[in-house]
Amino acid sequence: MRKKIVAGNWKMNTLPAEGKVLAANVAALSKEVPSDVILIITPPFTGLVAAAEAIQGSVVALAAQNCADHEKGAYTGEVAANMVAAMGCTYVILGHSERRQYYGDTNENLLTKTKLALANGLKPIFCIGENLQEREADQHFAVCKNQLEVLFALTPEEFAQVVVAYEPVWAIGTGKTASAEQAQEIHAYCREVMAGKFGALAQETSILYGGSCNPGNAKEIFSKPDVDGGLIGGAALVAENFVAIAKSF
Ligand code: PEP
Repeated sequence: MRKKIVAGNWKMNTLPAEGKVLAANVAALSKEVPSDVILIITPPFTGLVAAAEAIQGSVVALAAQNCADHEKGAYTGEVAANMVAAMGCTYVILGHSERRQYYGDTNENLLTKTKLALANGLKPIFCIGENLQEREADQHFAVCKNQLEVLFALTPEEFAQVVVAYEPVWAIGTGKTASAEQAQEIHAYCREVMAGKFGALAQETSILYGGSCNPGNAKEIFSKPDVDGGLIGGAALVAENFVAIAKSF
């Protein structure tokens, strides 16, 4: 059985005190979420300690939004995978389109980050997805395949720890959601690509949809057989909305 996962990406929002309140509200409301749904919150690095305290004793898991592509040393401003793990994170988002677009994440450094995350016991939430131009040119399958092939360098044991998030860039923060049919089509394709390398293991990989997912559209998207949950941006900043999404399966 594939894991159902709803992960909130807070991006560069919330001061630690605000994040603590948001995390505590998510933790309190998490009692309403079916026990087979994994709930993850992803505050900025500066909010991880406060959020970790707030979710203690609840089922809510903690993630970071990135980690460095080096183990340690003279990399000013970076945060290493072992530091992320030491903050209480069990997941880390890697390859979010904003990091690919603005901060130079590439297939090459994402493989390094993924390996380092795994070596430090973190489960990567590995983001892929095409931009509008690529979708309009019908290149979305090729783009996702190319981004997914990074994972082919992993061992099956490592791959088994990975969660994939399909996030069409044109749907992120735009209010424009992929239709449930579009999501299903590409999720099934991604699973097929992964099965080409990892066989039956790909049936166990959770593939999350991300892009303007909200309490009003989550149910339909999550009803599709290859959609195993969501990576939620804007709607994750309101605990009630985030939890309502997690109750949409
Ligand atoms: C995201 O950035 O991961 C995301 C899905 O954002 P939003 O839900 O705001 O579109």
